[in-house]
Amino acid sequence: MAKKGGAKDKKPKEKVKKEGKKLSALFEISGDKITRKNRTCPKCGPGMFLGKHKDRLVCGKCKYVEMISKSAEVAEEVAEEVKEEVKKE
Ligand SMILES: [Zn+2]
Repeated sequence: MAKKGGAKDKKPKEKVKKEGKKLSALFEISGDKITRKNRTCPKCGPGMFLGKHKDRLVCGKCKYVEMISKSAEVAEEVAEEVKEEVKKE
């Protein structure tokens, strides 16, 4: 008697993302200009960030989905590098 998908039932505890994220993770302040690092939802407005998935961005509120193109991926990588630099300081 083989159990079907027994392993699938065991889900690793997902880290609960707290709302109180560091603003520096979402915004980049250079001088008196603030640049948003993450994409925001066009439906919900600039206050709602899109959640990053493997190949798409998804709005957790209205389920708006935006596919990530190759060129955008490169931009994301650059953003990640900037994030790392901010952490070091
Ligand atoms: Zn939305």
